[in-house]
Amino acid sequence: MKDDCLFCKIIAGEIPSTKVYEDETVYAFRDINPQAPVHILVVPKEHVCCARAIDETNSQLVAKCFEAIAKIAKAEGLDNGYRVINNCGEDGGQTVMHLHFHLLGGLKLSEKMV
Ligand code: AMP
Ligand code: ZN
Repeated sequence: MKDDCLFCKIIAGEIPSTKVYEDETVYAFRDINPQAPVHILVVPKEHVCCARAIDETNSQLVAKCFEAIAKIAKAEGLDNGYRVINNCGEDGGQTVMHLHFHLLGGLKLSEKMV
């Protein structure tokens, strides 16, 4: 745990969150400022700052996040599809420096960049 990290504090239960999923490796909770009917943040419990810090020693955390995403999407009824977004670093628009994936769905997402 990184003491000054918002998401580490959420995972530790020091800051409240609306939890939707948890296992040994992954924690998922609803975004406080939802951009879609379903907007969930999926994070590894281990503190990793960002996608830039992923290498062969910790890439299993990303795999576990995506395993969780598939389960959560099913539980949330996102049978028609969804979008997963990762913002990395300043240019990527990342505001919380603990690796996380935005799971967005519940409507036909229109603003497509790629
Ligand atoms: P990013 O800009 O990709 O780093 O995403 C950070 C996300 O965290 C934003 O979508 C925020 O709305 C969300 N967020 C910030 N604080 C909280 C919180 N206390 N609980 C839930 N989501 C939060
Ligand atoms: Zn953290």
